[in-house]
Amino acid sequence: MLMIPGPTPVPEKVLLAMAKHPIGHRSGDFSKIIGELNENLKWLHQTTNEVLTLCVSGTGAMEAGIINFLSAGDRVLVGNNGKFGDRWAKMSRAFGLQVEEITAEWGQPLNPETFKEKLEADTNKQIKAVIVTHSETSTGVLNDLKTINEYVKAHGEALIIVDAVTSLGAVNVPIDEWGLDVVASGSQKGYMIPPGLGFVSVSDKAWKAYETATLPKFYLDLAPYKKANGKNSSPFTPPINLMFGLKAALEMMREEGLENIFARHKHLTEVTRAGIKELGLPLFAADDCAALAVTAVMPDKHDAEAIRSNMSKKYDIALAGGQDHLKGKIFRIGHLGFASEADMLKGLAALKATLKQLG
Ligand SMILES: *Cc1c(COP(=O)(O)O)cnc(C)c1O
Repeated sequence: MLMIPGPTPVPEKVLLAMAKHPIGHRSGDFSKIIGELNENLKWLHQTTNEVLTLCVSGTGAMEAGIINFLSAGDRVLVGNNGKFGDRWAKMSRAFGLQVEEITAEWGQPLNPETFKEKLEADTNKQIKAVIVTHSETSTGVLNDLKTINEYVKAHGEALIIVDAVTSLGAVNVPIDEWGLDVVASGSQKGYMIPPGLGFVSVSDKAWKAYETATLPKFYLDLAPYKKANGKNSSPFTPPINLMFGLKAALEMMREEGLENIFARHKHLTEVTRAGIKELGLPLFAADDCAALAVTAVMPDKHDAEAIRSNMSKKYDIALAGGQDHLKGKIFRIGHLGFASEADMLKGLAALKATLKQLG
């Protein structure tokens, strides 16, 4: 039983949809599927922008979000309060961007006011992009993207580039309403399908920036994907069977409805946090910035790895560990995608038994 924040559990309906022989990706039948996927992806992303589907993991979608819209030497502000914010910073440096990090301690949310100060001080409009992780999976913290984005909009020039890998499909990310320029996500998180697909939505403002961006790109050059999208096609051979699965998953999501999906994730988060509090274990992130995809727990009196090991051996439940300096200090419970209250109650009961067994 996967209770990690990705890969997440895959519904049987999706597994069965993938258990088919591939069809030709240039066929009329597949073109029809791409057309339906594009329409449903726009629905899920709450946007009329193109949502481009790439054969990459989430990090590949992040990379596409950088190299298509920026040039070496561009000044960018990067929010870093965890493993994935840190990945944005490393990636931006790898491509020769001039990175200024806005940090917060792991477990704390980014302070939007720091973004405001930096953006207001930039009267020459040198900052080309503000790059943030919405839901910081490594710590279970949801950053205040809405407010940060308002300051980016007040700046006027900078693009907002967002890692929404564990927020899309769990919490409200109204791309058009907020005017988010580039939003990257990946299939093995909120989309209820296995790893292998990355998604990037691109605003008109970002396409304008694309025209002057000079970082090298080929496989992840988004213009051919956009052109192909317009013809219900794809520039290269796509992972056809994953797309069969995506078709089934998006149908399930449409049936449930966005509001219900968000409400379910909120409820799962509340159930999990209440259960953890009842067990007397400290939560790593505060209630008011809790991510709705993953809950991080810091069991101060127990070794987090011993808890994870017992959960796996005795109950066949996979929990995620801490990353970097949090290894052994925290464990993380995923409640993203195809997860129900019954799943959380089972996980919490097994955790209670585990604590007893560990003394
Ligand atoms: C999972 C995840 C990613 C992408 O990781 P991949 O292993 O490349 O799919 C990026 N950002 C966040 C916040 C994530 O949770």
